[in-house]
Amino acid sequence: MNFFSTAAKKSPWLYRINAGSCNGCDVELATTACIPRYDVERLGCQYCGSPKHADIVLITGPLTARVKDRVLRVFDEIPDPKVTVAVGICPISGGVFRESYAIEGPIDRYLPVDVNVPGCPPRPQAIIEGIAMAIEIWAKRT
Ligand code: SF4
Repeated sequence: MNFFSTAAKKSPWLYRINAGSCNGCDVELATTACIPRYDVERLGCQYCGSPKHADIVLITGPLTARVKDRVLRVFDEIPDPKVTVAVGICPISGGVFRESYAIEGPIDRYLPVDVNVPGCPPRPQAIIEGIAMAIEIWAKRT
């Protein structure tokens, strides 16, 4: 294994997909990026702006009918091996939007989910714990 693959194993890039969230989970995700107390970069990872650069994808929201095709298309752009984290109860079960006519989720009907972080919204500590689990899974796959 060369230097770059060793370093890359310890430095996964995170990408966020909003699948119709109310933004509550996204605000908590933002705290893991912006507030030093919760800073997720101490785990060695960082958020990126392109799905093509991502290793771990964090999905919020219940997967609405309106965004489903776009979410699946963006998810396909993330190179393998990728690890998927469902953030909040919405992608896991539909949450408060469950059984709505506008909802196509839960998200695992369409995508493989590796880590669930329940909560409405989950606390930043729970999100960071989920990301840490995702990093372990990702390191085993690379
Ligand atoms: S889990 Fe709660 S906070 Fe998160 S998107 Fe769903 S309703 Fe909003």
